[in-house]
Amino acid sequence: MLSINKLINKLVKGKNGDNDRRGHEPVIVPRSEHSISRKQISQNALNVLYTLKDAGYEAYLVGGCVRDLLLGHEPKDFDVATNALPEQVHSLFRRSRLIGRRFKLVHVRFGRDVIEVATFRAPPETSSHVDEQGRIMQDNVYGTLEQDAWRRDFTINALYYNIRDFSIVDYTGGIEDLNAGLIRLIDNVETRFREDPVRMLRALRFVGKLGLKLDKETEAGIFKWAGLLSDIPPARLFDETLKLYLTGNAAVTHELLCHYGLFDEMYPQTAKLLHEEKDGYPRTLLMKALENTDRRIDDDRPVTPAFLFAALLWEPARQRAQLLMEHGMPEIPAMQRASSEVITDQVQRVAVPKRFSMVTRDIWNMQPRLMKRQGKRAFRSLLHPKFRAAYDFLALRNEAGEPLEDIVDWWTRFQEVSANEQESMVAGLSGGDKAAKPRRRRRRRKPAANKAPKDD
Ligand code: ATP
Ligand code: MG
Repeated sequence: MLSINKLINKLVKGKNGDNDRRGHEPVIVPRSEHSISRKQISQNALNVLYTLKDAGYEAYLVGGCVRDLLLGHEPKDFDVATNALPEQVHSLFRRSRLIGRRFKLVHVRFGRDVIEVATFRAPPETSSHVDEQGRIMQDNVYGTLEQDAWRRDFTINALYYNIRDFSIVDYTGGIEDLNAGLIRLIDNVETRFREDPVRMLRALRFVGKLGLKLDKETEAGIFKWAGLLSDIPPARLFDETLKLYLTGNAAVTHELLCHYGLFDEMYPQTAKLLHEEKDGYPRTLLMKALENTDRRIDDDRPVTPAFLFAALLWEPARQRAQLLMEHGMPEIPAMQRASSEVITDQVQRVAVPKRFSMVTRDIWNMQPRLMKRQGKRAFRSLLHPKFRAAYDFLALRNEAGEPLEDIVDWWTRFQEVSANEQESMVAGLSGGDKAAKPRRRRRRRKPAANKAPKDD
C-alpha cells in the first residue's frame, strides 16, 4: 500500500465526477499521521471493535464518526463496518438485535447507547436491485471493504478507522476532500442521485452542519435532480426533516434547502408563499423559529417536532384561515378547518405522524382562542395541555412582526400572578379586550359552512 502523500500526488480526479481511484490501492494514513485517538472513541464502540477483532474479523469505525473526529467535532454516534455476517455479529453480542429489511444490520445495545454494526456491502450491480428510475430497491449483497467504500454517498463519509493498527483507510479520496473542505458525491453524480435522491438532502445537511462546500459537480447535480425527491416515500422525508431541522443547524440548512429548490419538493405549500413574499413576515417567522430551535438544542433544552411543523406550515394555515374568514366563517372554525386542510395536504409529501400533527393543530387552533380572554375563557386556555406551546407560538408571531405585544404581555403576566390577581386581570379586560364585548354573531352563512371539519 502506498503512502498518503505519494498517492495523493499521483491521483487525478476524472473530468465528469467519476473517480479515477477505482481499482487503485487505498490511501492508508498511519496512526502517527492523523488526529484520531482512542480516547475520543466511545468505550462501547471500542468494545464492539475489539470483540470483532478478537473473533478474527475485520472491524472498522466508518462514516460520520470518522469524518467528525477528523474535523474536530464530537461524533453523534459510532458506526462499525465488518466482514462478519450479520448473524455472526449477532452471535458475538448477547445484547444485540438483527434489524432492517432493505439493509440488514445489527444493533448492539449498551444501556441506552446503540452501536450499529453493518457487514461490508457490495454495490447494487444487477438490474434486479434497482427500479426503472435507477433507485436502489434491495441492497443486501455482501462485499469487500473496497466495495463497501464505493457504495457510500460522499467521499468524506467513506473513511475507515481500522482497529487492527489504528490507521485510516481511504479508497475514494475522502482525506483529500476533507482537507479541501469539499463534499463530493462518490462516482457519477446522476447515477448516485438517481439511486437515492435523499443523498441531495444529506449533502445539504452536511454543508449546514460541517460548514464544508459542495464540489461543483455535486452542486450542479442537486439543482438538476431536485425533482427526484418527489419519488421518495413520505415517511422517509419525515425522518430526514427531523435530521435537517432538529439537530442544531436548522436556520442555515433551511436557507440551503430553499436555495437549491429542495424545500419546494418537501413543503410546496409553504415554499410557494415564501417565494411570493421574499423577506416579509412568513420568512421572518420561520427563521426566528429555527434560530430559536437551534439555540434550544445548543443549550440541551427539549424541542418538539410539533412546534417545528407549526412554524413550517403556519403561513399556509394562516392564509387559508384568512380566506375562510373572508367568506364569512368565524375565526375559530376557520382556523380549525385550515389546520386540517394544510396538514392533510402536507402529509402527502412528508408523513408527519398524527401524534405530532395533532399537537401542531392544537397550537394553531389555540391562536384565536388566546385572543378571547373574558369570563372563564382565559382560565380554560391556561388549563389546555398545549397552552405553553400555543403561548410560545403567539410570542413568536409577535416577534415576527404581528402587533400582538399587549396580548403576549398579558398572558406572560397571567401565568405569573396569584389566582386573585388573575381574576382581577380578567375583570380589568372589559371594554379593553375586543373579545370581551358581548358580540352577537350574525349568522349569514349556511350552517354547514360553519362547522369545523372532522379530524383527518
Ligand atoms: P451523522 O453525523 O448525521 O450521523 P452520517 O454520515 O454518520 O452523519 P448516517 O445516516 O449515520 O450519517 O450514515 C452513516 C454512513 O452510512 C454515512 O456516513 C455513509 O457512509 C453511509 N450512508 C448513509 N446514508 C447513505 C445513503 N443514502 N447512500 C449511501 N451511503 C449512505
Ligand atoms: Mg452517523
